[in-house]
Formats: sequence, structure tokens, C-alpha cells
Amino acid sequence: MSHKKLFIPGPVEVDEGVLQKMATPMIGHRSAEWSALQKSVSEKLQKLMYTGNPIILSASSGTGLLEMAIRCTTAKRAIVFSVGAFGNRWHEIALGNGVPADKYEEEWGGGIRPETVDQYLSTGKYDVVTITHNETSTGVMNHLEELAEVIRKYPEVVWCVDAVSSLGGAKIQVDKLGIDICITSSQKALGLPPGLSLASVSEKAKKRASGIGNRGYYFDMLLLLKYVEERNFQYPSTPSISHTFALDFALDRILNQEGLDARFARHHEMADYVRAWAKRYFALFPKEEYASDTVTCISNTRKISVKDLNGKLGERGLTISNGYGALKEKTFRIAHMAELQKNDLEELLDHIEDVLELTD
Ligand SMILES: *Cc1c(COP(=O)(O)O)cnc(C)c1O
Repeated sequence: MSHKKLFIPGPVEVDEGVLQKMATPMIGHRSAEWSALQKSVSEKLQKLMYTGNPIILSASSGTGLLEMAIRCTTAKRAIVFSVGAFGNRWHEIALGNGVPADKYEEEWGGGIRPETVDQYLSTGKYDVVTITHNETSTGVMNHLEELAEVIRKYPEVVWCVDAVSSLGGAKIQVDKLGIDICITSSQKALGLPPGLSLASVSEKAKKRASGIGNRGYYFDMLLLLKYVEERNFQYPSTPSISHTFALDFALDRILNQEGLDARFARHHEMADYVRAWAKRYFALFPKEEYASDTVTCISNTRKISVKDLNGKLGERGLTISNGYGALKEKTFRIAHMAELQKNDLEELLDHIEDVLELTD
């Protein structure tokens, strides 16, 4: 089967050098060699996330750490701010774990407004707030700086952020913003294969967790932190060693070869380019002020068959995403994250114009 180049919001195209690192021979996860590798990865991730907080890696996809965060930090009640499918999932995760949680769901296409967060937090009912930074189903990127200003007024509240489809493609200054737990997965803007996720954890989140009785085991944040901090970056259970080799290599490229500012600028430039195209031939699904820098969700104003389009693109070795859930065929999505370059997008959009015979 010939490879189709992925323009979907995860898994993404993985660079050949990174793929090869996944094939590194194994080392023992109780060895000094492992501790050194894990320490190196953690320090690089702290740079990427602009934080001094410890980093937890998990041999699960990001959903596992979403579960860890809400379950291990909610003593009173969590408020989940949702702008789409992944926000809704965080609420379901809470309910499935017996964690008391309410959900505020914004109309799809919009972002969370700081006033809304203020309204909820000012009730005093909540000690955890969750925000999806980049909602992959709607192409909405929430404005973390504005939200941080409000959340800062409530120092007892633990702030958890789902940055699964943005970290590595957009600047998130974890410590400056005051994010207590910031979570991402390997297979999105970091540009690795799926199967690894990671989070930064603040002292405040850690303190909170120490008062929570039923934290589970595999995703017990305190147990994970205890190993990382007291046992030289090791883990209670076997980590994904292959991913860790690949991540260490990928982070060198991100931090040293490309540089963070250049990487974020590249994502912004690709997004601008796709958005301009979307507006010329279709329309943006999200309100433009919230349009994401890593994935563009396009309203299917021409009522094309997205399925047929994707079939034809497939014959040309390319894949995009249909709309998510209820937005299927009503929208389609083009991801511009990880290692894609603007010329990849130019090529894709040329093919789409050709397949659809688009003229202005
Ligand atoms: C992909 C995604 C998830 C789920 O992550 P997994 O790694 O598949 O568990 C959660 N939130 C957002 C915003 C995502 O894009």
C-alpha cells in the first residue's frame, strides 16, 4: 500500500529521522542510561513548555493524562469548559471516574470568553477548571492569556489545559500563564508516532492531589511524580522506551535546529495561508479570532462530497480529514502541524482546486 501524506490532525507525518529513532535497540528501564535519557527529555520539554515544573511521560495517548488530571486534582468540583468534541470528552472522563464535574459548552465555532470563566469561578463551587487550548473538532484555538487573567484571581483553583493538538505548534508559556497541568500527545504538533503523552505538573496540583483519596493506580499523578522526582526519572511501570529515544531526537531538532520562535512562526504562516484559501473558496467554520494555528476547519459551503474529495486525493497520495462527529460532511479539516511546510500545503490546495475544478 502506498503511503498517503497526512494532512489530518493526528496522527501526523513523521520525519524519517524520527521514525528511525523508534527502531533504536532497547535499554532497561531501571538502568542509569534510561534515567539519563529521561532526564534529557524532561529538560528539553521544560524549555518547550516554558516551565520549571516536573514532566510526567505516559505510555498512553493523551486521553490517559486528561483522566489523570481531572481525577487526581478535583476535591470539590470541576468545571469543564468545552468548545467541541474533545472538551465534551473531558467531561465524560470526569463522570466515568465518579469525579463531580459540570460542563459549560460554548456554541461550536466560538471560543471560551473570560467573562464566562469568571461567572463560574466566582460561585466558589469549583476547585478545578479545564480548558481545551486547541479544539481539534472545530478548529478553535482558545486565548489562554485572557483566560489566565481571570483564573489568576482564584488561587485555590487548579487549572488543567488540554494542549494535545497545539503544544509544539503554538507558544504556551506554562509558568507565565499559571497553568497547573498542561497535557499533550506525541502524534500531533510534536510530530511523533502515537502512543506517548506527557504533562507538566505544578506544585499546587501536586499538593491538591495529596488530599485526594482515590487516584487510581496507572494514572496516579503522585505515584508517577514520586518515581520521576525520587527515583531518578524512572516510572512505576514500563515506559515507552522507543518513543523516548525518538522524542529526545525530535526535541533537539525543534529546539536547536529549527528554534521555537521559527517553529511557531511557521505554523502561523501555514495557518494564514490555509485560512486565506478557505475564505476564497469556502468559509472558515470557527469565528476568525479563534481560528487555530495548527488545524483549519472549513465550512462546506459548496456542498461538495468530502468523502469523494478525500477518495480522489487518496489516489494522488494525500489525505485530509472529514468533519468530526456531527460536523461530518458539513465541514472538513486540514491540519498544518508538526513538520509540514508551507509548500506541502500549497501542493495540497492545488490538488484540491484541481479535483473540485474550483474557480473564484
Ligand atoms: C487528539 C486529541 C485528544 C485525544 O488525544 P489522544 O492522544 O488521541 O488520546 C484530546 N484532545 C484534543 C484537543 C485532541 O486533538
